[in-house]
Amino acid sequence: MHPWTGPTVSVIPGTGEVPLIRDDITGRLQPSVVGERADLYVCGITPYDSTHLGHAFTYLAFDLLVRAWRDLGVTVRYAQGLTDVDDPLLERARATGKDWWRLATSQAALYKSDMAALRVIPPDSYRGVVESVPQIVGAVERMIDAGQAYRVPVPDAGASSLGDVYADLGADPGFGSLTGLSPEAQDRLFAERGGDPDRPGKRQRLDPLLWRAARPDEPSWDGRTLGRGRPGWHIECAVIAAGELDQPIDVLGGGTDLIFPHHEMSVSHSRALTGLDQPVRLTMHTGMVHLDGQKMSKSVGNLVFVSDLLSRGVNPAALRLALISHHYRDDWEWRGREVAWAEARLARWREAIGSVKPQGHSGEAIAKIRAALAADLDTVSAIAAVDEWVSAAPLARDRSPYAAADLRRAVDALLGIKLY
Ligand code: ZN
Repeated sequence: MHPWTGPTVSVIPGTGEVPLIRDDITGRLQPSVVGERADLYVCGITPYDSTHLGHAFTYLAFDLLVRAWRDLGVTVRYAQGLTDVDDPLLERARATGKDWWRLATSQAALYKSDMAALRVIPPDSYRGVVESVPQIVGAVERMIDAGQAYRVPVPDAGASSLGDVYADLGADPGFGSLTGLSPEAQDRLFAERGGDPDRPGKRQRLDPLLWRAARPDEPSWDGRTLGRGRPGWHIECAVIAAGELDQPIDVLGGGTDLIFPHHEMSVSHSRALTGLDQPVRLTMHTGMVHLDGQKMSKSVGNLVFVSDLLSRGVNPAALRLALISHHYRDDWEWRGREVAWAEARLARWREAIGSVKPQGHSGEAIAKIRAALAADLDTVSAIAAVDEWVSAAPLARDRSPYAAADLRRAVDALLGIKLY
């Protein structure tokens, strides 16, 4: 699936530092890449209610990581999935009387145009669940053969139904190691976030669905020995990541609401499919954007959309700057006035960088931006470094247009903000 057309990215002198990321589990800063190649998987959207500011905040964080890796000079391989068939999408289509596939494709198209407007570098591999069904079927078949998955009869489905397929978490001694949650917390979050702990016939309450046998009025695909049906949620990311990236992948990412069960389950499936104890080196999760005191979410319905803001004339560079003015791991409240502040900051940056006198350099400011981003993508300090240079600009006699050009290129390459 074609993602979107990416922005041109400026080249700046020198190279950046290895970005350190604070690992969710250990709480320690860890190198985000250890070799010449960096592999990143980020969970994509379920295409309805796209693209709200919570989505944008998440994908901008990983865009900053990709930019820092490129600046370091490593080869980046970035894969992103698209959950283009899933229960919430089908429910929304049903509730609004829309065809589910039209809803998915139109919302995916909107997401892509929003990402392009925000100058987000597209993933190298962008794969939908629907186009990945044959690979997912193969993976589930292998898990059944290996004794890592089992069938559960579907009530009232008749003798011809082969049943649903669930992963047997009892076969994975590593399950739970990603998040370290208590069994009580696991059970609660599983029930809250799409799981079915009380489904009769399962071996363990937390066992996740791998393949849902076809039901009336639901889309389904040929599942070969599984029978017709559609994939479960967590297996899709494990299969797409395994197919597109070197294992172990360096960073697995998404919003904090994906840590459990989605990423714990996905990594469990990846262990089953790859035979590796640790198929993921690091996880990176982004904070939640709130509105009126509550997390911005589809279920609550308190959403602010990128496309609405842009259609009201908001400058996409100002929106991008407003969003990355918050550290990626922080939860924060959207108040709306951030855009005006970002517009004012952009105006100051443009004016100062265009008005400086000959001779001098901006190397120190660029080094500060690089150092800030290498320290767990500290955009707050990176932006402060640009502010510092800009506020000194009218006073300095030793600043050249060349220095300004270098800084302009650095702001573009590292922060994704184009000042010209
Ligand atoms: Zn995922």
